[in-house]
Amino acid sequence: MSADELLRRYLEQRRELGERELVLDDMSVEEVMRIIGAKSGGQRGGASLPRAAQEPPRAERPASPDQRRHEPAITAGDAGDWRAQLTASGNSAPNAGGDPRPAKREAPPDRGAAPPSGLVVGGGEAELFGGPIAQVTTLDEIAAMVASCTRCPLYKTATHPVPGEGSPKAELMCVGEAPGATEDETGRPFVGAAGQLLTKILAAINLKREDVFIANVLKHRPPGNRNPLPDEVTACRPYLVRQIELIRPKVIIAFGTFAAQSLLDTKLALGKLRGAVHHYHGIPVVVTYHPAALLRNPAWKRPTWEDVQLARRILDNSAA
Ligand code: URA
Repeated sequence: MSADELLRRYLEQRRELGERELVLDDMSVEEVMRIIGAKSGGQRGGASLPRAAQEPPRAERPASPDQRRHEPAITAGDAGDWRAQLTASGNSAPNAGGDPRPAKREAPPDRGAAPPSGLVVGGGEAELFGGPIAQVTTLDEIAAMVASCTRCPLYKTATHPVPGEGSPKAELMCVGEAPGATEDETGRPFVGAAGQLLTKILAAINLKREDVFIANVLKHRPPGNRNPLPDEVTACRPYLVRQIELIRPKVIIAFGTFAAQSLLDTKLALGKLRGAVHHYHGIPVVVTYHPAALLRNPAWKRPTWEDVQLARRILDNSAA
């Protein structure tokens, strides 16, 4: 692919994610120089670069009020070296042989910088629960069980079950909260307005919907889109757990507070969970905003972009 084409695609992705100003925060000056075909090294602040590209990397800039508000409580110093965590979970990390010091907390937005490791739920083995759901061996069987599920009352008010869909070999799994109105009508996850945005978010990291698996914590719609109740989550949880066990993705993206807190068994706020690599039974988990929240607050598209880039890097490193 030519340098122009690369740059065009990059800018299209940023525009797709709602950016109106160009801040090349996720690329180093050298990368941009390479892409636009400029000479490398010794050309600091070259005339052909946009002003933003000449600014210091984001990690070195003062945090915005929004960043400060979302500053995770888990610091790299507390959590150890994310490279070691990634390696332990079967992924190699960039610069793995390099500086062994823990990353600075502000690092996640910078390519190659080290996000801190986060929460760890379970070991590498299957979740410890018994019963019929643990015995099924295919995603279709899970869908059939969801279709006749009476484990909580939601089946009575829902029109269709929404078990989830996508590739059984997906390397990336998206987990949302619960079906909304359009999902309830169609029996498919993330197909309403938020779903269309999710499709674009996936495209921004070069993935199609059919490449990934998309599921929700709840498989039936709560009436009027009310928040899921704890009993409903407990009842529905084994379906998601078994889906994860069968797919064994290389990375999970939890979209929104509810999915993140359910998966990671925590009450920590989304802002404290973003920017770190958590682990669910050995599988890296990245937390980001729910697409529905992005529709209400487009300013969150940019941090979401950074989060999904982190997931992409985990995928890329696991393939190396
Ligand atoms: N919101 C979700 O969390 N899941 C869906 O499937 C649709 C909207």
